[in-house]
Amino acid sequence: MIPAAFEYVAPTSVEEAVAALAEHGDDAKIIAGGQSLLPVLRMRLNAPEWVIDLGRIDSLRGVRDAGDHLVIGAMTTHHDVGQDPLVHEHALLISKAITHLADAQVRHRGTFGGALAHADPAGDLGAPARALGATFVVQGPGGTREVAAEDFFVDLFETALSDDEILTAVKVPKYDGWGASYEKFVRIAHQWPIVAVAATVRLDGDTIAEARIGLTNMGSTPLRAEAAEQALVGQPATEEGVAAAAALAAEGTNPPSDLNGDADYRRHLATVLTRRAVLAAAGRS
Ligand code: FAD
Repeated sequence: MIPAAFEYVAPTSVEEAVAALAEHGDDAKIIAGGQSLLPVLRMRLNAPEWVIDLGRIDSLRGVRDAGDHLVIGAMTTHHDVGQDPLVHEHALLISKAITHLADAQVRHRGTFGGALAHADPAGDLGAPARALGATFVVQGPGGTREVAAEDFFVDLFETALSDDEILTAVKVPKYDGWGASYEKFVRIAHQWPIVAVAATVRLDGDTIAEARIGLTNMGSTPLRAEAAEQALVGQPATEEGVAAAAALAAEGTNPPSDLNGDADYRRHLATVLTRRAVLAAAGRS
């Protein structure tokens, strides 16, 4: 199918884009890489009267070092984030997750901010954002505000963004020297996971000193596996040391049941993938 007719505007600054959103309100939709929005429009699941394209706003692209954190522009493509040396050095978990995200074509068009604003619970970037404690920078008619990752994801495909706000950037604290791994279980290559686990750990010798774990598709939003994180601290980075803590990975989750697997199957996957991800992050796989 082809989308219903719409008016198209491509502003060159965030202020103009925010003004266009304010003017057209509920009748408008932002387009970034179009990798999720265009299928929605083509299936006529949504038919906005206005489409506001962020593609000409250069200030929304790129990765910047801001001292104790990185700033990733919302319009930076998955490919560019995944290849960025700053991201590799300071937020390795994001580089690892992007190697598993879709295929090369989608990674060259889809954007970091677009994927997070879309808030698909099976999306591969929410769990790393939660695990790393990212902060979302949002701009609307009233100015700029910042939202913590745990508050940004509200529900299935729903974020803390208001209709008149744009996600402009994501701030990611630096995790220098931490190991990282993203373990994704899929039925079809280059597609969304049934379950995935994002893990990053800091070792003190052979002992796990700190661990941060994000879960993909274990609820309506990306989650932290806090019980497992706490249980890992002080454990040796060995199969035996990690297994008992990983068994707690699904605690407090509410995974969906669908054609790809029921909730119990997903809980099992979360346990297995957490063990693998933590061991890989610790360099022990
Ligand atoms: P768009 O499609 O342009 O927008 C998505 C939504 O976010 C829209 O509602 C739009 O209004 C809103 N939006 C976009 N940018 C902003 C912003 N800056 N501020 C406010 N709202 C905004 N994703 C995965 O995580 N893992 C996968 O394995 C995966 N596989 C895929 C396979 C295929 C074949 C395809 C087509 C997509 C796949 N995706 C996957 C989705 C991909 O990651 C998309 O890039 C992403 O979901 C949306 O990013 P986008 O820039 O294309 O956003």
